[in-house]
Amino acid sequence: MDPIQMVDLKKQYLFIKKEVDNALEEVFSSSAFINGPVVHEFQNNLEAYLNVKHVIPCANGTDALQIALMGLDLKPGDEVITADFTFAATVEVIALLKLTPVLVDVDPHTFNICPDEVERAITPKTKAIIPVHLFGQVAPMEPLLKLAEKHNLFLIEDNAQGMGAVYTFSDGTRAKTGTMGTVGTTSFFPSKNLGAYGDGGALFTNDDQLAHTLRGVVNHGMYKRYYHDVVGVNSRLDSLQAAVLKVKLKYLDFYNERRKEAALRYSQLLKDHPHIETPKRSSDCDSHVYHQYTLRIKNGKRDDLLSYLNQKNIPCGVYYPVPLHLQKAYFNETASESQYAVTNRLVDEVISLPMHSELSKDQIEYITSAVIEFFR
Ligand SMILES: *Cc1c(COP(=O)(O)O)cnc(C)c1O
Repeated sequence: MDPIQMVDLKKQYLFIKKEVDNALEEVFSSSAFINGPVVHEFQNNLEAYLNVKHVIPCANGTDALQIALMGLDLKPGDEVITADFTFAATVEVIALLKLTPVLVDVDPHTFNICPDEVERAITPKTKAIIPVHLFGQVAPMEPLLKLAEKHNLFLIEDNAQGMGAVYTFSDGTRAKTGTMGTVGTTSFFPSKNLGAYGDGGALFTNDDQLAHTLRGVVNHGMYKRYYHDVVGVNSRLDSLQAAVLKVKLKYLDFYNERRKEAALRYSQLLKDHPHIETPKRSSDCDSHVYHQYTLRIKNGKRDDLLSYLNQKNIPCGVYYPVPLHLQKAYFNETASESQYAVTNRLVDEVISLPMHSELSKDQIEYITSAVIEFFR
């Protein structure tokens, strides 16, 4: 059995080495390192894959979120609602732009933002909602879209962890994550489901006017060379990353299938355990692409399990150990802890097991036996 990795990018690379090496060599010999033709090709391929009108590449997933908020022309003091249980990038950019982050609690089983909590948090100052498709599971888009429409709010999907997931509406219509709201954002950080070999990100929208605005914002606010109409940023996806991503996009569905198989196997081997809650998955099997495979450990022994697994050379992680409302940078003294009952519990219970497209059956069996052994 090969050593177990949290994410096995080396093994994944060896499978596609020839294609990737050729694609990179093409960029080297063209020396079109910035805005080369491959950036456009990848953009077009991603538009087709997502079935969205506009993909705007940028430098990383955090920039993508910031650029989305800048493109929507939000003003200091405007309130933006997002989840208390997510990676900090989401709330960071809200605060950076002097908007007011409003953090709400999540669902204890899907870990995703709760529409009822969102509705309770809406005030006359609320301008936008940012759901995160956390761990690769689609957030409850239909109720969220209804709320956004009813209260005239922008909906920004943080799809950094959900690339390739599909949401099914109650009328049977289906849509890829990142394409349902006003604008969607993603990250191509190497360990994400669609990962580059460095940093990268993108925005998605079906709104022509917004797409035009965003293309200016990513490029110093320029719509005509050296005419700066708005304050922008410099945020580009470079050609080398686009070349890698263009190859890997072809395999994204395959990678996600492999992740789902691994998740199913984990859940079978750990099912009905008194101390473990395996990830909830809706009957629609496309709604979760398992960026992480995250258990809840219900007997208070999560940290002991973590050290036990590490001793056995099984890497695992705690995403995330501190609720955002308790982080020093975002601490809100007016918040009451009862508002965040679920997140406060999850940070002590969650543990993510190794999850990637190269996990073998043997490795999964070794990991689950170790987990079960620990509780004996
Ligand atoms: C990874 C991630 C980001 C940030 O992406 P970077 O490319 O690292 O800037 C934002 N939001 C979520 C939910 C993420 O998982």
